[in-house]
Amino acid sequence: MPEYEAVIGLEVHVHLATASKLFCSCSTRFGSPPNTNVCEICSAMPGALPTPNRRAIRLAALVGLATGCQINTRSVFARKNYFYPDLPAGYQISQFELPICEHGHLDLPESGRRVGITRIHLENDAGKNIHSGSENISFVDLNRAGIPLIEIVSEPDMRSAAEAAEYLRALHGLVTYLGASDGNMEEGSFRCDANVSIRPAGSLRLGTRTELKNLNSFRNVQRAIEYEIARQEDVLAGGGKVIQETRLFDAAKNRTAGMRGKEEAQDYRYFPDPDLLPVEISEAELEEIRASMPELPAARRERFLEMTGLPRAEVETLLQSRKLADFFEEAARGSDARKAAAYIIGPLARVCNAAGARLDPENWKFGAGDLAELINITNEGLISAKIAADICSDLLESPESPREYVLGHGLGQISDAGAIEAAVDAAIASHPEEAAQYRAGKKKVASFFVGLVMRETKGKANPGLVNRLLAEKLGS
Ligand code: ADP
Ligand code: MG
Ligand code: ZN
Repeated sequence: MPEYEAVIGLEVHVHLATASKLFCSCSTRFGSPPNTNVCEICSAMPGALPTPNRRAIRLAALVGLATGCQINTRSVFARKNYFYPDLPAGYQISQFELPICEHGHLDLPESGRRVGITRIHLENDAGKNIHSGSENISFVDLNRAGIPLIEIVSEPDMRSAAEAAEYLRALHGLVTYLGASDGNMEEGSFRCDANVSIRPAGSLRLGTRTELKNLNSFRNVQRAIEYEIARQEDVLAGGGKVIQETRLFDAAKNRTAGMRGKEEAQDYRYFPDPDLLPVEISEAELEEIRASMPELPAARRERFLEMTGLPRAEVETLLQSRKLADFFEEAARGSDARKAAAYIIGPLARVCNAAGARLDPENWKFGAGDLAELINITNEGLISAKIAADICSDLLESPESPREYVLGHGLGQISDAGAIEAAVDAAIASHPEEAAQYRAGKKKVASFFVGLVMRETKGKANPGLVNRLLAEKLGS
């Protein structure tokens, strides 16, 4: 049996972070009551005319610039005709022959691969059909109809399911860092179709592909592609041929099933939308967008590696979201980069994990300044590193600053030499035999006395001070 190689190309749909829709001023807010964010334009009443949203165009160009695309200063909206109940006009307004961005790429941080980006085009989203199984009725909600999307089409440059997932995570990181999208996958702001084929390893010809739909999480994208590669290998091994078709992924059954074949493929009869002028974006405007671009995740990754000296995989945790990266950076500025990273990757991540929550500073009553303070009071010796780690889960929920919390809960270490001295004296006085052993050369007995002092002070004595005082008193 020949060795096969997988070939994968992804089409990713991303909601742009605009307050209003692509061609009207209706709100894009998610979760409004059905059909409340709808007007004559996005419900496609006859004669209603679309007006493009400038911010959407600028955000599309921003993503294009960040992926090394050529930005077409003149692009054209085209009608993509098909019938579906959630598409009131009977066509989607998209871009076909002349998209806004072309010929870009995205570099993957782990595998080091460069994935080509064929094109990025602007289009409006469709509404949503809501099927009520029990009553056998369907409803249409047009709140989503007209929300601006970009579709990012990759070259067939990925060779494994893991690489496709890596590309998707990198792309998600990029659009959210740029503020171009909220990237919310549960709300459908970031959706992916995967095209998968296999071919004999080393061959240059592309095999017949299938297109996988219904992939609503990074994990499902990876599982669906893994399943599909294995399925296609089985088909070829059995002497069969892969048919070009669209397949739906069933996450519960962990398999893909055919939905429609090529014969049923639609002819979209694209043509330039006569209601819309070409989209123009000047060199000056592009320059302005380029200048407003924040630091990209790739550059930030290199800087964080340098700042923390941590391995790549750990730095990835800090880069999970722009908010978390900002949080880390601010805490590092007020204290120590290595320690700030260690608290986030260690105790804070553990607390969130245990609660089944995301590592998201927005949900905490614990700001970057608080993390810096926690590190600083540990450095000062007010609390031990162990206590600091133990109180993290409380601090995330507490309106008090770490110092206030520690003092309020009587957790501060005793660095008062007088109080510790009294405890040391008492320990030695009540255990003359052990003290004699120490003086006879059995230095290990010191830890027995440290234990006594710690018990006496409820673990709050500054360990350095205890050791010093014990050595002094026992030695004399
Ligand atoms: P369509 O619009 O019909 O989906 P496109 O030509 O726009 O077709 O291609 C869509 C995606 O399919 C692109 O991401 C591309 O890289 C990918 N693709 C094309 N051919 C193959 C193939 N043989 N195997 C895997 N992916 C492919
Ligand atoms: Mg496609
Ligand atoms: Zn509207």
